[in-house]
Amino acid sequence: MASIDPTKAREFAKEIVAKLREKGFQALWAGGCVRDQLLGCEPKDFDVATSATPVQIREVFGKRRTLPIGAAFGVITVLGPRAAGQIEVATFRRDATYSDGRHPDSVAFSNAEEDARRRDFTINGLFYDPLSEEVIDYVGGREDLQQRVVRAIGNPEERLSEDKLRMVRAVRFATTLGFDLDNETMHAVQRHASELSVVSVERITAELRRLLLHSHRRRGVELLRESGLLTQILPELICDENTWRQTLDTLEAVVEPSVAVVMALLLRSLHGEVTGQDSAEQIGRRWKLSNDELDGVRLCLKHEATIRNATTIEWPVLQRVLIVPRIEELLSYCEAVAQVVDGTCHAIRFCRETIARPQEAWNPAPLITGDDLRHLGIPAGPAYRQLLNAVRDAQLNGELTNRESALTFAQARWKAGLAEL
Ligand code: ATP
Ligand code: MG
Repeated sequence: MASIDPTKAREFAKEIVAKLREKGFQALWAGGCVRDQLLGCEPKDFDVATSATPVQIREVFGKRRTLPIGAAFGVITVLGPRAAGQIEVATFRRDATYSDGRHPDSVAFSNAEEDARRRDFTINGLFYDPLSEEVIDYVGGREDLQQRVVRAIGNPEERLSEDKLRMVRAVRFATTLGFDLDNETMHAVQRHASELSVVSVERITAELRRLLLHSHRRRGVELLRESGLLTQILPELICDENTWRQTLDTLEAVVEPSVAVVMALLLRSLHGEVTGQDSAEQIGRRWKLSNDELDGVRLCLKHEATIRNATTIEWPVLQRVLIVPRIEELLSYCEAVAQVVDGTCHAIRFCRETIARPQEAWNPAPLITGDDLRHLGIPAGPAYRQLLNAVRDAQLNGELTNRESALTFAQARWKAGLAEL
């Protein structure tokens, strides 16, 4: 997506409200953007709530500038100038009962107050009138923002059990905002945590990703445990206190990690355990990580020992790890582990210094290729890999410095190999 200019997005969100008002509808900014603005941060996006129905919203902005993708739920996307992005305009609604613990059975258009009450947490239930610059608060959200509390709107028991994803959202918001979880809301999560399984893995992991990527991730994972959600999400992690503490320490130590890196830190203590199967791998699949993320997790777990022992391990072994394409992720993972487990990051520093040098110094072009072996008359086969590897090792160790000596070395090795047979 093209980059959005926050000032343009804000202007456009205000323009949408003004236009709906002109046509006689009620319209307000709603939800996360109001919360973020009151907290003094730039909202990521703006949502508008209105008394206009989806059909009326499309009439006001024109079919060409609107997308009806969410129309069945009362949401129309209004397209703005390129730098302003797009804004979701939703009709005020009330949710009917939830019989499956995931979605309301139906939605009915309604008024602003009911629309506030169907939202999850008081801090997410605020409206803002950008024309009069007033906050409209039906749910006590402003006070909870001041107190820095995440509190379910209405009866927490009912609200968290009607849509069980809200349990994870409660912990996610408490983590990312650095807020407390209201006691009753926490108790309701504890009582209903075991019901989380009705929610799809994708919706759960979307919230977990945000929690784990945030710098407060340690507290997030602690809250997941305290709330009982960890037993549902990652029961394998509930282990002895020392391992648990070490996992938390590494999560705290890591700096701006990717999903693969945090997942690897989280799963590190399980690697290779549990009836000999690779449980880290299984969990990654259960969480529906992408193949790319799974590759990253595997890479970290596989090469951790080599990197942490970088200063003592044979150079050709280390060199082959330093050239992996995701070396930065691997080093960021190992740095967190080394800091906590080894109490020093000097091995990681050594790796970083090495790869910062000019390529010729630590990753020179190979002296010979398979073609050269063919020209030497060596029949193609598995021996090629072994020979090229042996040449590479000798090159990296400084024993071979030019093509001729490499060819002589390969031929001698090949003959010696034959002699052994
Ligand atoms: P963020 O900035 O993290 O995206 P947000 O508040 O915008 O926070 P969204 O998930 O984008 O969060 O949802 C937008 C709004 O929709 C929320 O502020 C909340 O009012 C409402 N909402 C979202 N999910 C739920 C839910 N499961 N139950 C009730 N209300 C919800
Ligand atoms: Mg949002």
